[in-house]
Amino acid sequence: MLHTAVAGRIAAVRSRIADAARAAGREPSGVRLLVATKTQDADAVLAAVDAGVDLIGENRVQELVAKAPALASRLAAGTLEVHMIGHLQRNKINQLLPTVTGVETVDGLRLAEALSARCAREAVTLDVMVQVNVSGEESKSGVVPDDAAALAHDVAALPGLRLTGFMTIGARLLPDGSRADDAAVRAGFARLREIRDEVVASGAPGTASARELSMGMSGDLELAIAEGATIVRVGTSIFGERPAAPSA
Ligand SMILES: *Cc1c(COP(=O)(O)O)cnc(C)c1O
Repeated sequence: MLHTAVAGRIAAVRSRIADAARAAGREPSGVRLLVATKTQDADAVLAAVDAGVDLIGENRVQELVAKAPALASRLAAGTLEVHMIGHLQRNKINQLLPTVTGVETVDGLRLAEALSARCAREAVTLDVMVQVNVSGEESKSGVVPDDAAALAHDVAALPGLRLTGFMTIGARLLPDGSRADDAAVRAGFARLREIRDEVVASGAPGTASARELSMGMSGDLELAIAEGATIVRVGTSIFGERPAAPSA
């Protein structure tokens, strides 16, 4: 896709974000755009960066490693942050860490401990978020809401990690298999905000920084912003529909 087309779509998304923030009585600057770049090539990612994007998200370690050389100078200069937003396996940590500034998908203590051990050994600090499965859909990763605060407290206390907040993917389906309506999607986002508020209010070590709410995508970012999102993750509204995944 042409750089100018990407820039135009990013501008349109930014105005959606600003409108949603104002409608919720919030400052537009309180919502950051993360551009989800899965399946896009390095050139498309750089088009977004050239349009002023300073935060991108990738889902797969393999893709991150492939695109890392194109992003390295911006990462080193501190002008670009790269977040892992897909499910992470512990055996991929060593490959992942040099390519990212943050991991939004910490969904268990063993993964957090493995990240911590590696970061502590390298004397670096990694931004992490706890991923919560607010909708309970089986296809989604994330800790169940009732266990999220306890996991956050454990993660916050680990060396080498800085807990910056919480991440979720909005509901798609209700337990009976029907499509989630706006009220159900919003309820899930509200749940994430309540978890964040509870953890920050606890005053436990390492929890004061846990203020981010990464929630909302192309289809539901307005609902997420109404419920307090501080980061929205947008792919399709910028790059168009992704090609279907190649069959294995
Ligand atoms: C792909 C993806 C997004 C972006 O979703 P769109 O609907 O394409 O905007 C956000 N978050 C995660 C975790 C994703 O995998």
